[in-house]
Amino acid sequence: MKLLHLSTLSTSKSSLLLESSLSRDEPLIVMKGVSKVFQTPAGDFPALKDFNAVFLRGEFISVIGKSGSGKSTLVNMITGMDRPTSGVVSIEGACVQEMGESQMAAWRGRNLGIVFQFFQLLPMLSLLENVMLPMDFCNVYDPAEREVRAMELLRIVGLQDYAEKLPMAISGGQQQCAAIARALANDPPIIIADEPTGNLDSLTADSVFQIFNDLIQRGKTILMVTHDSSLAERTSRTLLIADGILVQDSANGLKGK
Ligand code: ADP
Ligand code: MG
Repeated sequence: MKLLHLSTLSTSKSSLLLESSLSRDEPLIVMKGVSKVFQTPAGDFPALKDFNAVFLRGEFISVIGKSGSGKSTLVNMITGMDRPTSGVVSIEGACVQEMGESQMAAWRGRNLGIVFQFFQLLPMLSLLENVMLPMDFCNVYDPAEREVRAMELLRIVGLQDYAEKLPMAISGGQQQCAAIARALANDPPIIIADEPTGNLDSLTADSVFQIFNDLIQRGKTILMVTHDSSLAERTSRTLLIADGILVQDSANGLKGK
């Protein structure tokens, strides 16, 4: 699969993905005492326990840990897909769990690009339409501008020749690239990815990782859950979660309880 990278386009497409006007290395995501307890027929299950972390603008954070350790729960706390049982998540000063559902959806659409393991493209829409959807939803770009922008984003991930195809007509790796293009639709400052390479072969996984790396160069902040320790090693900061506890943070050394 041939992928074009942002770095190669940085001069010609400088307005497509705007560099943040704010400087790097300032707190962007703050998590204080975040816990999540699921109520199950077998009783309460604590999936995340007193999670504390500050993520800085421009960081490329990987989150690793065994299956069931609480990685997706952590992601869901940040994206507002789920709410903590206690504690606070604030992003650029906005308290995620205090927003109502519609306010949250609008805020999420503008501020977070979310990438999933199984892509979650809408099967009845073309790639172009999939990428335009978040722009239509958030109404950020002028309607006349949206198709051109979606096309440019598909070009960035190497899919300009596939714009009219349905997701089922392309490979898994290409679907993930289309999902990344969709995540970039509203030019969010933060990309959250939950096992984005979990369903891809290692060569394709590497191409997807390279796109993320290029986005970091463009000033984005990325938090990526991964099973692949070789990819985690290539990020700027790695968190290890075990049994819902942040046991290691490469930014701070050991944090075990
Ligand atoms: P990971 O992403 O690291 O594999 P998850 O965050 O998905 O782990 O899950 C952490 C733990 O919480 C698991 O034991 C899982 O079974 C449990 N869990 C996740 N979601 C729910 C839920 N909605 N209800 C009950 N238990 C859940
Ligand atoms: Mg998970």
